[in-house]
Amino acid sequence: MKNIRVRFAPSPTGYLHVGGLRTALYNYLFAKRNNGKFILRIEDTDQSRYVEGAVENLINALKWSGLEFDEGPEKDGGFGPYFQSQRLDIYKKYAADLVKNKNAYYCFCSPERLTALRDEQKSQNLQAKYDKHCLSLSETEIKEKLDARIPYVIRLNIPSFEKVVFNDIIRNRVEFDTATIDDQVLIKSDGFPTYHLANVIDDHLMDISHVIRGEEWLSSTPKHVLLYNFFGWEIPQFAHLPLLLNPDKTKLSKRQGDVAVEDYRAKGYSPEALLNFVALLGWNAGDDKEFYYMDELIEKFSLERVNNSGAVFDIQKLNWLNTEHFRKLPKENLLSQLKSILADSEFNDANYSDEYLLLIIESMIERVTSVKEILEKSPYFFTDPLSYEEESKAKNWKPETPELLNELAKRFALLGKITDKHDFEKPLKELAAEKEIGAGKLIHPLRLAVSGMSTGPGVYDLLYIIGKEKTISRIGKAVKAI
Ligand code: GLU
Repeated sequence: MKNIRVRFAPSPTGYLHVGGLRTALYNYLFAKRNNGKFILRIEDTDQSRYVEGAVENLINALKWSGLEFDEGPEKDGGFGPYFQSQRLDIYKKYAADLVKNKNAYYCFCSPERLTALRDEQKSQNLQAKYDKHCLSLSETEIKEKLDARIPYVIRLNIPSFEKVVFNDIIRNRVEFDTATIDDQVLIKSDGFPTYHLANVIDDHLMDISHVIRGEEWLSSTPKHVLLYNFFGWEIPQFAHLPLLLNPDKTKLSKRQGDVAVEDYRAKGYSPEALLNFVALLGWNAGDDKEFYYMDELIEKFSLERVNNSGAVFDIQKLNWLNTEHFRKLPKENLLSQLKSILADSEFNDANYSDEYLLLIIESMIERVTSVKEILEKSPYFFTDPLSYEEESKAKNWKPETPELLNELAKRFALLGKITDKHDFEKPLKELAAEKEIGAGKLIHPLRLAVSGMSTGPGVYDLLYIIGKEKTISRIGKAVKAI
C-alpha cells in the first residue's frame, strides 16, 4: 500500500479559521491513525491577498492547538519548499507542458471582452463561461501576441461534453458534467499560478495519498481530476468534509460568532477542548461519546465515519467540553497556567507559594471554566478589596455590623496557629450564639469585608486561604471604608 501522506494547505488569510482547524485536525488524526505523515503547505500564490504576519499567526495557532506537522516550513522532509510562492518555476514548467499538449492554451482576451461576454451570457440566462475564443489562435498569432507583450493567462482546456467521475471517501461516487465547468485560468496575468494548478502539482510532487479538505472545494475537484489525467498522474483519494453551519443552518460566519482559533484562545478556551469540539463537527465514533482526549481520537478516527451533511457549530457544547476538560486537568498544569497568568497580570509583584496557589485552585475549580477566570472572579486572593459590592453592602451591612465584626476580629486574633479552616468556625458560631443572631448575620458581611464580593468559595475556605492576619486587617479596613 502507498505511504499515507496528507496535507493541510491553508492560504494565509491572517488567522486560522475553526473550519481550517477541523481540516487540519482530521488530516492529523488520519495521519496518526495510519502511521502516515502530516504535512503543512502554505498556499500563498494569491498576491492580492497577502497579509503581513499571516503565516506566523497560522503556524502559532497550529502550535498552540498541538497539531504538530511532520513536514512543512522549517521542517524539511525532502519535498520542499513548502511555500507555494517559492515554487513558481515548477508551476511554469508544468503549465508549459500542458500548453504543448493542447490541454491548456494561451488566452489574450482583454478584461473588456471578458466582461462583455459575461454580460451577454447573463442577459441570456446562461452560465458565465469562457467561450474558448483564444483556443483557435494559430501558432503564429500566439507568437505575435507574445512578442507584442500582450498580457495573457493560461487556461485549462476543458473537454466539452464529458463526465468527470471520481470517488470521495465521504460522498462515494461524485459525477460532474464538463459542460458546466469553465476553462479555468491556471496561470494568471501576473505569472502566478491559480490555486488549482499549484494544488494539483504539489499534491502530486509531495506524494500526497489523501486529499482531505472542506466541501467548498468539491466543485473544484473535477478540474483537478482532469489535470491529473492530462499529466498522466495517479489521482489521490479525496475526502470532502461537511460545511460548518451556524445554528440557523447558514454557513458559519463571523457575524454570528467567533471563527478564528485565536479568538477562542484569547477567551480562555483550552486547545484540548477546542480540538475535542471540532473533532465532533462532522464525525462521531458511532456511539454517543463526546468527551475525548487526543490519543482516543487518534485511536477512533476514520474518514468513513465522517458525515456528509453540514455540522452545526454549537457554542454551548464547546463551553461544556471546555469545562469538562478544564476540571480534569492535572494540578501541575493548572498551577503553571495560573503562574503564567499572574506573571502577566497586575499582581505580578508578589511571590506566591505553590501551596498557596494550589489552595486557590482547589477552592475555585468548580466555580470557573478557565484559569484566567480565577483571577477575574477572585482577585481578593491577590489584593485587598479595592471596593465593596454595593448590593451586598445594602443587604448585609447593618448598623450593628462594624461592632460585630470588630469583636469577631478580636476573637480571631486570639486563635493560635491556624491548621484547619474550621478553626475560624468556632469563634464565629460562639459569637453568633452569644448575640442570639443567625450565623449569616456574621458570615455575609465578613465575606464582603474580606473579599469585597458576595460570592466565592465557602467562607471558611476563604479565610483559611487568606490567613488570619489578612482576615483581621481586612475586617479593620472594611469597617473604616464602608
Ligand atoms: N488553499 C486552499 C485553502 O485555503 C486549500 C484547499 C485544499 O486543501 O485543496 O483552503
